[in-house]
Amino acid sequence: MRYISTRGEAPALGFEDVLLTGLATDGGLYVPESLPHFSLEEIRSWRGLSYSELAFNVMHPFVDDAIPADDFRKMLDETYSVFSHKAVAPLVQLDSNEWVMELFRGPTLAFKDFALQLLGRLLDYVLEKRKQHVVIMGATSGDTGSAAIEGCRRCEHVDIFILHPYERVSEVQRRQMTTVKGDNIHNIAVRGNFDDCQRMVKESFGNQGFLGGKTQLAAVNSINWARIMAQIVYYFQASLALGGPDRSMAFSVPTGNFGDIFAGYLAKKMGLPISQLVIATNRNDILHRFMSGNKYEQHKLEHTLSPSMDIMVSSNFERLLFDLHGRDGQAVKTLLENAAKGPVSIEDYRWRHARKLFDSDAVDDKSTCDTIREIHEQNEYLLDPHTAIGVRAARNCRRDRSVPMITLGTAHPAKFPDAVAESGVTVKPQLPAHMADLFEREERYTVLDNNIAGVQEFIARHWKNA
Ligand SMILES: *Cc1c(COP(=O)(O)O)cnc(C)c1O
Repeated sequence: MRYISTRGEAPALGFEDVLLTGLATDGGLYVPESLPHFSLEEIRSWRGLSYSELAFNVMHPFVDDAIPADDFRKMLDETYSVFSHKAVAPLVQLDSNEWVMELFRGPTLAFKDFALQLLGRLLDYVLEKRKQHVVIMGATSGDTGSAAIEGCRRCEHVDIFILHPYERVSEVQRRQMTTVKGDNIHNIAVRGNFDDCQRMVKESFGNQGFLGGKTQLAAVNSINWARIMAQIVYYFQASLALGGPDRSMAFSVPTGNFGDIFAGYLAKKMGLPISQLVIATNRNDILHRFMSGNKYEQHKLEHTLSPSMDIMVSSNFERLLFDLHGRDGQAVKTLLENAAKGPVSIEDYRWRHARKLFDSDAVDDKSTCDTIREIHEQNEYLLDPHTAIGVRAARNCRRDRSVPMITLGTAHPAKFPDAVAESGVTVKPQLPAHMADLFEREERYTVLDNNIAGVQEFIARHWKNA
């Protein structure tokens, strides 16, 4: 399998290189040159498989001969055995034909574990083979950092440096990052905001001179193709559990960077019958505004009760734009260069095509709280604020009640106790047993000034062979 850039100029790469690369050299994102397609008969034959067996069937065409089949199977078994539920991605019923898929049974209680637990293992495997080392540098407003740290803590060939804004992440989120033990784990609290952290990461990728040529940076944010790939699997899993592929499914997906929902779009293109995909955003609604009015325009960042979806631009949307433009990299390049300067639109027929693929809704904090309360009253079931946005959008956009509607449950409510309290539900969400002592564990992190030279110097001094 070869991967090409959405901006058409960077060289095509194989799976291993795509894994180790962040952005393509032309500023684009890598996508598979062609997608595998599965027949209904083949998908039907996967009924009853374990999650990791299904994951192998869905993902091995993408990995191809980069990893021998037996090694890849073993890696998947290990990856998904650390989840705290035998089904890995269990479904919970909300109403007749309405479901939540709980994607928060992994070690850090958010869906990002599905991809990052695998990514850590993939990286270490490929680096071992190549006798190489990488430094992962990432910025986080919460969930990505802890999932990446957890996914890389056993990696021998990876040092990981995660920047978070000092005193601006929730205590649960901070402790999930800073209490993980390991010599290769480095938490940096930057005296600045999330954008400051992200800017430092971007600039460092652009100029890696501070590493002295002895190692290279690797990316763990959702521009990394392997993350998208791992997220395709659970769409198949949910469908098979509810009578697919002999009936269609509808999915509602709480969305920030358009990674998770893009995986659903790919599942559909790979042959899974999906009749509706709902983009569910919070007040940071650039995607909903585009879908409703064909205008892609950055607004100011709003801080909401669903911080993991607080974004101004949606990086993976570029991958969809590439398809909408008939995979014309030059057209995407021009469009996105213009989008950095001001609002842009696409040709009307392309936009109409996008509207056939997706429905969308934007849900504000009040409506998020109302939904947490409503579902708790109806079912005694607690939603986290991100999942609540998905459920609200699912109910607002639903077209056909005979089609199962599945909302992706992206985080455990105990990660966001303040939002639950604000909704008026008096029950406190409990951390699962394996994290019950989180508030007693020892924390390790370094506070640094909002200054890129200082941060780079810290990294250069602290990676393993420095
Ligand atoms: C990251 C995250 C999202 C958004 O996912 P994208 O793939 O960026 O769209 C939604 N909910 C939670 C809890 C998250 O951590």
